[in-house]
Amino acid sequence: MADEDQTDFQLLAEYSADIICRTGLDMRFLYVSPSCVQVLGYTPEEMMGMEPFGHVLPEDLPGLTAVANRNLMPGIEPSRATARMRKKDGTIIWMEISARVVRDSSTEEPLEAVIVMRDVTERKSMEDQLARLALTDGLTGLPNRRAFDQDLDREWKRTLREGSQISLLLVDIDYFKEFNDNYGHQVGDDCLRAIAIAVHGVVRTTDIAARYGGEEIAVILPSTFAPGAVEVAEKVRSAVEALKLHYQVCPDGRSWVTVSVGVGTALARDGGTMRMPESLLLAADNALYKAKHEGRNRIATALLVAFKAG
Ligand code: GH3
Ligand code: MG
Ligand code: MG
Repeated sequence: MADEDQTDFQLLAEYSADIICRTGLDMRFLYVSPSCVQVLGYTPEEMMGMEPFGHVLPEDLPGLTAVANRNLMPGIEPSRATARMRKKDGTIIWMEISARVVRDSSTEEPLEAVIVMRDVTERKSMEDQLARLALTDGLTGLPNRRAFDQDLDREWKRTLREGSQISLLLVDIDYFKEFNDNYGHQVGDDCLRAIAIAVHGVVRTTDIAARYGGEEIAVILPSTFAPGAVEVAEKVRSAVEALKLHYQVCPDGRSWVTVSVGVGTALARDGGTMRMPESLLLAADNALYKAKHEGRNRIATALLVAFKAG
């Protein structure tokens, strides 16, 4: 850097809330601005004595070095990276790092890099919270349909990889339209919430219960054969019945709320093709229809042999 450039740079860096640094091509710090004391707890001298990226969490290092190496290439628009760093007091913060390579004006050879590091912990936690909200159903607190679709896709791919099996429950409240008509939508919502909590409480920790639609809850049972799935379905059905949610005018003569459960099981085997996981959903839906048809407050099953493609 020319002398007057260096003075301007220093002036800017000394007053910035971001950490501004210069590093050599070996990524060692040549200069670190004073704000690193506020942000990371280290003095500039301590930072300069550190190994390159010494305060970055090891799991974030590969991503960060990949961006750093890419930024060294000529003609590349520099990109930003985010990584977690450990402060001197041990707490971990998210930092956004932008870098610009300083090149020799005649040969274009890289000489050093100017790096700006900004604490984005608050923004990151807000983003994480928003992402969580986008996948959560507001009424029941269960994962929503979008989360369910992603989870089912992931679990089916895993089933294929392992050549194993997966089951799916579709839990539907019996005569719920009539319930709403009699007690009002608000009481209907309370009922739905209570059932969601009961279903969530009764399934295994490896199973995923989600709000599938209006008054339907789906449960993904990874690595589960039909007999195991029937067992979980029966637990769900009886847990809801045990709530004895008052339903004086239930058309089937009972005076409490019940659910019907459709159980679908798919096996991943070599040969052929079948659209999955849609077919598994369809199988569980057909089973649910059967349970309704046979009198409600019961479970019905459908077994499906889904083939690995190719
Ligand atoms: P079946 O036993 O055959 O399942 O009969 P059903 O009345 O439960 O089925 P239907 O599909 O005819 O009606 C579903 C009802 O669920 C209609 C709708 O008002 C109610 N519902 C769906 N989502 C919600 C919700 O979020 N809150 C409330 N309170 N009711 C809901
Ligand atoms: Mg329904
Ligand atoms: Mg229903």
